[in-house]
Amino acid sequence: MSNDNNKEEKEIKIILLGETGVGKTNIITRYLNNTFNEDSITTNSTSYMMKIIQRSKVIYRLNIWDTAGEERFRCITRNFLQDASIILLVYSIIDINSFEGLDYWYKTVSEICDPNAAIVVVGNKSDLFMDQEVKDEEAKHFAEEKGALFKLVSAKLDKKGIDVLFDEALDRYIEKNKNNNNAVRKSNIKILSGKNDKKNKKKKKKKC
Ligand code: GDP
Ligand code: MG
Repeated sequence: MSNDNNKEEKEIKIILLGETGVGKTNIITRYLNNTFNEDSITTNSTSYMMKIIQRSKVIYRLNIWDTAGEERFRCITRNFLQDASIILLVYSIIDINSFEGLDYWYKTVSEICDPNAAIVVVGNKSDLFMDQEVKDEEAKHFAEEKGALFKLVSAKLDKKGIDVLFDEALDRYIEKNKNNNNAVRKSNIKILSGKNDKKNKKKKKKKC
């Protein structure tokens, strides 16, 4: 039996990594607020936003971390990466350099992150297919080789695709950790009602 008082609560840390300009910030704002910004918002900091979702009896608190790509790991510490549950490695389909940059990001992630973390290779800006530089097959192959999921999305035009991206990333994480009870950390938050499902909040900004 289940009621609001006995719902299980779990905490999931999601980190977006990738070169500057690939659309990390817009992927997050599309997912959380259904907004898109035509201008590049340059950030020199790492910040996180929170969303609460529910899957049957389990309430997941998603802590979604945005990073500033060009600074690479000068700002991103081992501690920051090692407790991540889901890592989105983002490139832009119109920028071959951003795809080649994923080698670097993947290598670092694979050295530091929990092997049970779910990794997703995300090709963003699929609406700009006319100017595509990165072949889908090549990116898919890269992902498969690494045991990662592969998703093509457009933060600009396709809200549903962005929702599916986060849903499938969570599914993959749950699947990878279904026999590991300690893998998903219990959250201390108190859930008052189902109304929190769509609620999200900018929590914290951390300077380098
Ligand atoms: P970040 O540096 O990785 O966080 O990238 P931003 O989210 O700041 O986006 C960089 C630029 O790419 C901005 O001008 C966005 O408007 C644009 N952009 C982001 N996502 C898309 C997309 O899906 N399609 C198109 N056409 N432009 C996008
Ligand atoms: Mg950004």
